[in-house]
Amino acid sequence: MKRYESARENERFAVKRSSVGLGLFARQPIRRGKLVVEYTGELLPAEEAYRRGGRYLFEVNSRWIVDGVGRQNISRYINHSCRPNCEPRTRGMRILIYALRDIRAGEELTYNYGKEYFDELIRPVGCKCAHCARRRLTSGTRTRRRR
Ligand SMILES: [Zn+2]
Repeated sequence: MKRYESARENERFAVKRSSVGLGLFARQPIRRGKLVVEYTGELLPAEEAYRRGGRYLFEVNSRWIVDGVGRQNISRYINHSCRPNCEPRTRGMRILIYALRDIRAGEELTYNYGKEYFDELIRPVGCKCAHCARRRLTSGTRTRRRR
């Protein structure tokens, strides 16, 4: 079962270098609204998860957290974007990632990591998502023009 699942994942996704390190890319087109992948891992009580720490903790609700650090969780390669093409939704104790729009083969998959994560871990170093990189580029051009 597990082996079958991961073989199918290899057909659907590729882990490749992106602007922020490794990222998850679609190998096949994905229709808007479709389930893309599940964020899998160990379901832990919030207290225990925060004691453990790490960058792959995903809050299911105020009491439960999925620690997605495990290698079988391919969705841990999905990077943050301020203008994402995917969105995680919780269903019971599961975290499912859906396509927000039609996604082309070869596109990097992204979702918004949320305000808390952004303020704590992304803002201090500057967001490197494609949307922010483009915005920096255009505002840089404008500054140069003004001079
Ligand atoms: Zn950004």
